[in-house]
Amino acid sequence: MDGAYLANKIRARCTEDGDCLLWPGAVFKSGGGPLIQIGAKNLSARKIIWSQKRGAPFPSNRVASVTCLNKACLNEDHVIAWTRTEVAQAWASQRNPTLAAVKLSIYRRDNQKNKLTAEDVALIRGTKGSRRELAEQYGVAITSIDRLRRGEGGWRDYSSPFAGLGARA
Ligand SMILES: [Zn+2]
Repeated sequence: MDGAYLANKIRARCTEDGDCLLWPGAVFKSGGGPLIQIGAKNLSARKIIWSQKRGAPFPSNRVASVTCLNKACLNEDHVIAWTRTEVAQAWASQRNPTLAAVKLSIYRRDNQKNKLTAEDVALIRGTKGSRRELAEQYGVAITSIDRLRRGEGGWRDYSSPFAGLGARA
């Protein structure tokens, strides 16, 4: 089963929607876009489409995303091998500021190799996202998310305008 065969199978299942080519099947819950199941493996349809168009393996240090930010899109001209920064910036320009902020914060964390920052904590407390999703994104236990949302976990409440006053003195 080679890349061209798979790419053609994938395209055959998609339907056109404006510029986009939409995948009707399952997508990665973590946000990796459309997935296809081969045996016991879930493969990224974006990566297959990207590789097939360019005749090169998908670079391992990149994220398979789409310039249109349509999660189901597999138009080969929209599928792109972005750096994590580029993905974060693309999302930051989207309408959902909370999601964008979370993604930027994750990016910063990954690069600084820090534990949760005060900003992360504020985001976790302010976001309505699912506990499991947040726990996965931040690489912490679900119980930590619960604790943070209950105001525990050793973090002061940064949502108060007076919080932190004097902290830098
Ligand atoms: Zn698209």
